[in-house]
Amino acid sequence: MGKKKCGRNYSFSNVKNMNFSEIQPLLQESLKKIKHVVIKIGTNSITPHIENQNSIFFHELADVVLFLQKSGINPIIVSSGAVGLGKELLKREKKDYVQKKITLVEKQALASLGQSLLIDIYRDAFERKNIPIAQILVSKSDFQNRKHYQNLKYTIEQLINWKSVPVINENDAVATEELKVGDNDTLSELIAGMHPYTFLIMLTTVDGFIIENKKIDFIDKISDKYFKHAQGPNEGGIGGMKTKLKSAEKILLSGHIMNICSGKSPKIIYDLLKGEPKGTWFFTSLQKNEVAAKKRWLLHNRHITGSLYIDKGAKEALISKNASLLIVGIEKYDGVFNKGDIIEIFYKDKKLGKGIISYSNKELEDFLISKKEERGLEVIHRDNLILL
Ligand code: GLU
Repeated sequence: MGKKKCGRNYSFSNVKNMNFSEIQPLLQESLKKIKHVVIKIGTNSITPHIENQNSIFFHELADVVLFLQKSGINPIIVSSGAVGLGKELLKREKKDYVQKKITLVEKQALASLGQSLLIDIYRDAFERKNIPIAQILVSKSDFQNRKHYQNLKYTIEQLINWKSVPVINENDAVATEELKVGDNDTLSELIAGMHPYTFLIMLTTVDGFIIENKKIDFIDKISDKYFKHAQGPNEGGIGGMKTKLKSAEKILLSGHIMNICSGKSPKIIYDLLKGEPKGTWFFTSLQKNEVAAKKRWLLHNRHITGSLYIDKGAKEALISKNASLLIVGIEKYDGVFNKGDIIEIFYKDKKLGKGIISYSNKELEDFLISKKEERGLEVIHRDNLILL
């Protein structure tokens, strides 16, 4: 199984552009196999409901979550809104509070104020359906370090076993910019990457990915032409269409499904589960096998500490023979890294993939000097390698 998942399965370059009606039956088949649904809710979908905390939005969301649980699907929520709600709270309490450019510490304090209200709003709506809500606040290191990552995964799985719904956000109150994932589009993608058979739904303020006033129904491969049309975030939000597309790229490589759609009403999720042409779908029919857990972690992980430049023979061995990367195929390297770090692999200027390296840069240097004796050493084992 593991071996099959390497190599060519990851290359989508020969996909022809299909339209939605062609892909819909395949999409519907794949949706039937879904086990986890990650629902990402943006700040601008949350803050309009603060005035009325008993808002229909959260009640509808609780209904959707209950429906998913009854259908044997595990819902996980990634919710923004801590900073946004913090600002609203402060405006209420201190009538003279003016929203200006805020300092980092003010932002952290706002997140702390808003996060507790955020979780109260969820708890209030979900308790009526007898669904316990569990708050998880994370930061970048929870995804970079494989041990932390697995701890987080096990916690989520335990909560799911208890039919509780994790509501996940960044730990904005303490994490400074360099320690943060940075935006909840990326965070939701990282969470979606944790489990097999996952569908990521990004509820946002737009109807999907729009190019020249036309909604794109379906994308099976992200190319530069899409990035040219992608906008930054709307006011009050972080992320925007560019970060969503970057996340969609990884979701497609993981063999998962994603949809970006309007979060006006969570009821749209019922239509999405049926594979209806709502929002923008990201789906590829080419990924037949589920990608192994370790490879998904590799794929979604953005913490890269070095690069290896390989020769033509090694490139061919990786692509067509599904081989491990051996010392003999390495021309040079860049960066300072330790055993177990994630390294990108290049052939000339082209990025071929990434992998978990078995040696530090110092050890690699020694091997490269004495190349002859160490020819067969595996620098990256094929189980720890993905081609893009
Ligand atoms: N974590 C931020 C908050 O709760 C939002 C980040 C985002 O929306 O991307 O305010």
